[in-house]
Amino acid sequence: MIDYHLHVWPREPGTPTPTPADATAQVWATEQGADLDAYCDAVLAAQVEGLPVELGIEVDLLPGRVEAMAKVLAGYPFDVRLGSVHWLGAWLFDAYGTDVFAAEWDLRGVETAWRDYLTAFGELAGSGLGEVLAHCDLIKIARRFPDLAMRADFENRLVEVVASSGLAVEVSSAGWRKAVAEQYPSQSILEQLHQAGVEITLGSDAHVPDQVAFEYGRLVDLVRGTGFTHVVAFPAGSKTPIALDPAPTA
Ligand SMILES: [Zn+2]
Repeated sequence: MIDYHLHVWPREPGTPTPTPADATAQVWATEQGADLDAYCDAVLAAQVEGLPVELGIEVDLLPGRVEAMAKVLAGYPFDVRLGSVHWLGAWLFDAYGTDVFAAEWDLRGVETAWRDYLTAFGELAGSGLGEVLAHCDLIKIARRFPDLAMRADFENRLVEVVASSGLAVEVSSAGWRKAVAEQYPSQSILEQLHQAGVEITLGSDAHVPDQVAFEYGRLVDLVRGTGFTHVVAFPAGSKTPIALDPAPTA
């Protein structure tokens, strides 16, 4: 069993707050509880004890801050970095359970949101800030979709961006816990990625212990059914293919 996307500081949805500034401040206050040095020390100590863990981090794209972020990250011995887009400007679009962030969907419009996400995702893929692109079609999280033609175009472009980046893509069960009720990425993106020879990791994006390896069997069945026979892992920072267990014979 391989779960490549685990958070060690629990972050539960907060109580709704009245303004975007307050909501953003609340996210900041929660995330500040994390201490990068303490986190790295704990994971490295676990490795010394022989536990099968790798030192990873989820890196959020902050436009215009790529160089500064790369500098900070270079000071740590990460085995793997998961690149993500959660923010479009000051909008934490995946926090659709928070009223002010949810309202932004109507203010910006669905088409603009999807377009801006793709632009940010392209910047992330070319930033050098990660080895794996996490939950690559996260913009669908709130189940707010553009029309079919635009969605198909979005998916084609996204696959082009991923394939030309040479990075691996996370296949995540977290979407099954969200409004969209679909894994990341969608089945059609996954099929195109497979055809393009893109490598994958598997992740639950667990924010609490009960979510670790969430729907793992279903996730393995899905990627195996799409034609993948391997995932990749990054022991000691070097990308290594790992064969998926063969399908059980009934
Ligand atoms: Zn994420």
